[in-house]
Amino acid sequence: MILMEDVYKTYPNGVSALNGINVEIKQGEFVYIVGQSGAGKSTFIKLMYREEKPTSGKIVINDMELDKIKEKRVPFLRRDIGVVFQDFKLLPKLTVYENIAYALEVIEESPKSIRTRVLEVLDEVGLKNKARFLPAELSGGEQQRVSIARAIVNRPRIVIADEPTGNLDPDTSWEIMKTFEEINERGTTIIMATHSKDIVNTLKNRVIAIENGVIVRDEQRGEYGYEV
Ligand code: ADP
Ligand code: ADP
Repeated sequence: MILMEDVYKTYPNGVSALNGINVEIKQGEFVYIVGQSGAGKSTFIKLMYREEKPTSGKIVINDMELDKIKEKRVPFLRRDIGVVFQDFKLLPKLTVYENIAYALEVIEESPKSIRTRVLEVLDEVGLKNKARFLPAELSGGEQQRVSIARAIVNRPRIVIADEPTGNLDPDTSWEIMKTFEEINERGTTIIMATHSKDIVNTLKNRVIAIENGVIVRDEQRGEYGYEV
């Protein structure tokens, strides 16, 4: 569960990115975050995985109130939230296998169980035969699959994606969306910022629209609602 109450975010340069966000997202929902460039979508998302802290307001993620949790608990929060970026953010010198194994929390895990889990997620995203490749040897869609595998390897309850199809052609984007849907069908919450009108209007899910740092629309099975 994700809860935000009266959340404000002003950056050190004085820009008010979020101006009073109130929202509740239940476990297992699939939510699109839409809005014009600069509306506050990325800031909204960054607050959830604690990349940024709110200036004021309350944020609760899976029963953890973020401004109350001790620094040493942050890894537990991070383990429960997988993040996927537009530009993949893979480590270029590590193989596909190593990029995923690296993200796995290794505490109390034997090398054998790590190997089993990495091969399992690679299979889930259809890349078992690319385990030894470097990111630069893969297509954009394949690189995004690696980053999805890395995001889910810890079996997080929430996966957050910031424009995951922004660098991909339409066909590849649909395949990536299919993978997100499969992850969601197994009960994982998906929060996805997107500019893809096609995707939002075709694969219907909850739509939260942000403008000037406030939620202006929140609809189940909503429409994209902007001309692109
Ligand atoms: P979106 O993802 O919808 O494009 P952002 O959350 O990135 O919106 O940005 C919201 C506003 O906050 C914009 O005016 C942007 O310039 C500003 N902003 C974002 N990140 C920073 C930052 N690190 N420092 C200062 N201002 C920022
Ligand atoms: P797409 O057209 O689907 O974006 P590419 O044409 O870039 O993808 O790649 C097609 C296939 O060739 C992919 O399976 C990818 O792994 C492989 N490939 C692409 N570039 C390289 C490379 N430099 N070295 C090895 N394999 C590559």
